Amino acid sequence: MKETINGKIGVENLDICKQCGGKCCKSYPGPATPDDFGAPDRQRMYDELYTSLKSGRWTVDWIDQEQEHYFVRPVVKGFESSVFDHRYMGECTFLTPTGCELSFKNRPESCRMLVPKVNERCDPQGYTRAYVVKMWQPYIDVLIKAATDVEKFDMDIDFNL
Ligand code: SF4
Ligand code: SF4
Repeated sequence: MKETINGKIGVENLDICKQCGGKCCKSYPGPATPDDFGAPDRQRMYDELYTSLKSGRWTVDWIDQEQEHYFVRPVVKGFESSVFDHRYMGECTFLTPTGCELSFKNRPESCRMLVPKVNERCDPQGYTRAYVVKMWQPYIDVLIKAATDVEKFDMDIDFNL
C-alpha cells in the first residue's frame, strides 16, 4: 500500500512485516521529522511537541549535543517519560504483539518511508539519523523550548509532591 502524507509517499506492506515480526521496531524507534509535528507552523509544532513529550512516549535524541543536532523519536520501552534520551538500541514503545499501535499516518516519517523487503535489508530511502537531524535544524529553537518547558513542568510536579 502507498499513501501520501504531507506530499510524501509512505509504504506499508503488512504481509512482509507480519512475517518479519517487526525487527526494525525491536531494534530502534524510527526518527520523526518536523512535518510529523506540523511544520512549518511553529505554534502548532510547539503545541504538538509539548503534548507528545509530556505524554512520556516521545523523546528528544541527538547525534551531537554541542552543535544542537537533535531530533525526535518514540521512546524505548522501559524508558518512558525521558524528555531527553540517547540510547542506540531498544524496542519502540509503540510496538505491540499485533504491530504498531499508531495508525499509519501517525507514525514517524522514517517508519512510513521504510520499504519492507524479503531476504534483503529493508530500504530506509535515505532516512538516517543524520538526514532527519538536518530536517530539524530550522526548528531547533521550537524543539528545545517545548522540551525544556516539559522538563520544567515535571520538576514543578516533583517539588510540589
Ligand atoms: S520494515 Fe522491514 S524490518 Fe521492519 S517489520 Fe517490515 S520487514 Fe521487518
Ligand atoms: S512508531 Fe511504530 S512503526 Fe515506528 S518504530 Fe515504533 S512501532 Fe515501529
